[in-house]
Amino acid sequence: MSVRVGILGATGAVGQRFIQLLDDHPTFELAAVTASADSAGRTYRDAAKWRVDTPIPDDVAEMEVVETSPDGIADADVDLLFSSLPSGVAAEIEPAFLDEGYVVSSNSSNDRMAEDVPLTIPEINPDHLGLIDVQRDERGWDGALVKNPNCSTITMVPTLAALDEFGLESVHVSTLQAVSGAGYSGVTSMEIIDNAIPHIGGEEEKMETESRKLLGSFDGAELSLHDADVAASCNRIPTLDGHLENVFAELSEDPSLDAVREAMEGLESADLHSSPDQLIKVFDDDDPDRPQPRLDRTYGNGMGIVAGGLQRSATGLKYNCLAHNTVRGAAGASLLNAELLVEEGYV
Ligand code: NAP
Repeated sequence: MSVRVGILGATGAVGQRFIQLLDDHPTFELAAVTASADSAGRTYRDAAKWRVDTPIPDDVAEMEVVETSPDGIADADVDLLFSSLPSGVAAEIEPAFLDEGYVVSSNSSNDRMAEDVPLTIPEINPDHLGLIDVQRDERGWDGALVKNPNCSTITMVPTLAALDEFGLESVHVSTLQAVSGAGYSGVTSMEIIDNAIPHIGGEEEKMETESRKLLGSFDGAELSLHDADVAASCNRIPTLDGHLENVFAELSEDPSLDAVREAMEGLESADLHSSPDQLIKVFDDDDPDRPQPRLDRTYGNGMGIVAGGLQRSATGLKYNCLAHNTVRGAAGASLLNAELLVEEGYV
């Protein structure tokens, strides 16, 4: 089966990862790339300040960037759109595509917490896709909107899902986030070199709310948030890619560290083209200084989660986890959701 796809916001940090991940994809064929009015009409090579560590695929380099509207992509005959637009822009533009019947797998934060929008990680809560039927009824559109979580949320949530069998009660997390998470022109070198910034606008709230939705339960009509309290503190540091997080979790049970490691490593991967073979890898006591962004962000082609430093703390457990923020945390997450949408017959 071949599905023609487009990328909204294709020239940005996440858009570039989409292009890299879609190169030679067995199901998706890239047929349209959109960006702002400044980029429309230019070739992709000319419009994008390419910073991904593989060359721009030749066929994409010569594609014309079109304006981000249903008219702009009308000639491309696509069935599915990936969205990596700034959230304010996405909030205005995504509904126009949904009204036209497109299926949109989106990274942007608008609507992630809407009651009728699935916020999905295929390995954790694939059943939440059932919200699409609720969404179509309520919004009256033929399309379907699926969101993936924020990059710092998706780094931590698979480890929390593994802990949930021991009664997850509360989570405190502190992040060390890479500069690519702020987008191509998000943080200037004058701000970030030799520095750390203890504030990322809106990020803490996203981690605190999205985690509870992802771990929540869906009864076929409504979604209930997980009860756990989540408190986050988010920091930007001068790494390029890969968010590292220090997690402190309180559980109602008292599992051994071996049982926790087994639960994390035993979490099932999804049987989809872009899934890693093993979703979470846990370093043991022989490697107390891992995971590290530069060494571990490409685990599972950037689609895996790496944990380590697992110990007991005064209030429960503590450990570190890491994921590639523009792959597992953004474009790869959206791509995996799209593969699930195809598998489940929504495309
Ligand atoms: P970015 O590097 O700033 O790229 C933004 C893209 O949107 C560019 O292609 C830009 O085109 C386009 N754009 C901007 N304004 C537009 C407009 N008015 N109309 C149409 N297109 C417009 O941002 P990013 O880091 O890729 O992030 C994209 C989205 O993904 C954001 O919502 C972000 O919050 C989310 N996200 C990012 C990450 C991450 O790690 N970076 C992780 C998870 C989620 P031009 O090049 O023409 O300006």
